[in-house]
Amino acid sequence: MSVMQLSGNQKYLNQQEKRESNARSYPRRIPIAIEEAEGIRVKDSDGKVYYDCLAGAGTLALGHNHPAVIQAIEKVLADKRPLHTLDLTTPVKEEFVDELFGALPAEFSAQAKIQFCGPTGGDAIEAALKLAKTATGRRSILTFQGGYHGATHGTMSISGNLAPKEKVQGLIPDVHFLPYPYQYRCPFGIGGDACHEISARYIENLLDDPESGILPPAAMILEVVQGEGGSIPAPAEWLREMRRITEERSIPLIIDEVQTGIGRTGKLFAFEHAGIIPDILVLSKAIGGSLPLSVVVYKEGLDQWGPGAHIGTFRGNQMAMAAGTAVLRYIKESRLEEHAERIGSLLMDELKAFQKAAPEIGDVRGRGMMIGVEIVNPAGKRASSGSMPAWPELASAIQKACFERGLILEVGGRHGSVVRLLPPLIMNEQEAAEVTAIMKAAIKEAVAGLQ
Ligand code: PMP
Repeated sequence: MSVMQLSGNQKYLNQQEKRESNARSYPRRIPIAIEEAEGIRVKDSDGKVYYDCLAGAGTLALGHNHPAVIQAIEKVLADKRPLHTLDLTTPVKEEFVDELFGALPAEFSAQAKIQFCGPTGGDAIEAALKLAKTATGRRSILTFQGGYHGATHGTMSISGNLAPKEKVQGLIPDVHFLPYPYQYRCPFGIGGDACHEISARYIENLLDDPESGILPPAAMILEVVQGEGGSIPAPAEWLREMRRITEERSIPLIIDEVQTGIGRTGKLFAFEHAGIIPDILVLSKAIGGSLPLSVVVYKEGLDQWGPGAHIGTFRGNQMAMAAGTAVLRYIKESRLEEHAERIGSLLMDELKAFQKAAPEIGDVRGRGMMIGVEIVNPAGKRASSGSMPAWPELASAIQKACFERGLILEVGGRHGSVVRLLPPLIMNEQEAAEVTAIMKAAIKEAVAGLQ
């Protein structure tokens, strides 16, 4: 077929495949070129419109091209603000810090410092680890099975997923993986609340065992809702236990809110569900209002690193700061986090009702607009925790069937068997109903196709 005869999508996809790295990821599952985007919808180069429930992997809190974001970006240009300033300050930056500190619990922001990082979540996690190691003079890191913190050598080392590590040498040493309270596939093989209670007891005993094999830790890092690990919310009681256990032992607690941050889970920050305060908070994705930005906010007592301890050229993206300020303000003023909680519950209720007639759905879970549907093989053997074996082929087939019906969502989690929704927080009731209708039809079709 000549290039002229190819459809818009195919022409661009062929060029992409020829020129871009073998490491490219999303295009393999979402084979489109995007022409236009607005709100929760994107239009591809063949004119087909999709609901975007991936939304930049959770970045686009207000969806694509929200007027509040566009106005903020246009204002930076109209006012002839600098676009890039390293870490020099500007009125735009100070306004962003005011807005962010105003959104955080006063108990935290009153004694907080902020570090602007290179614009990815991964770079901010690197900064958080360096900060904790410098402040404590220790080197071991406590992290959790199923956690995801980035794709650099350091962040990959503290993430649970084995696949990217297998071919890479030189991960950072002294990293210890602890059991996350993933109730459906409980690491202790027991269901119910006992899962998180035992996790907490185990971790506390481990830290007090003089022969645990773990040197005194520089930090514990966790996600309040594991994102890439499969949209797994940690119970509030367990989070309070982690806070108590780390506090009593002077171990800084790093909370990674790269994915949960700014309203997605029903609170501005997911740690607020448990009423705890982190020592170090990492933010990226939504904080830049669609543009690249990442920060670490931490208690000032930890501010013991020297000048230039974490540098990087792109720490001064003024458009991202202005867009981030606009997003924070919009979410706070319109109480969008409460809307996210309500629509998220509607989505989950609808999927839970459908689960009764669909034994291939092992678990529906999440918090706010961070939802996971765990796909299982009902013909398999039930584990002691009550879970059924994962069925990744079916999860992929569901994603594909959703895609064909005009719904973009992600597949991830353990065994690649969790269908994940990360919609923009502005999604309304009608759109939520349409999304679940597509999912239900896609699940039925994919199940029939694999039988
Ligand atoms: N932490 C969490 C919880 C994430 O979800 C991600 C990205 N999915 C990261 C860190 C890494 O962010 P980035 O991809 O911007 O490096």
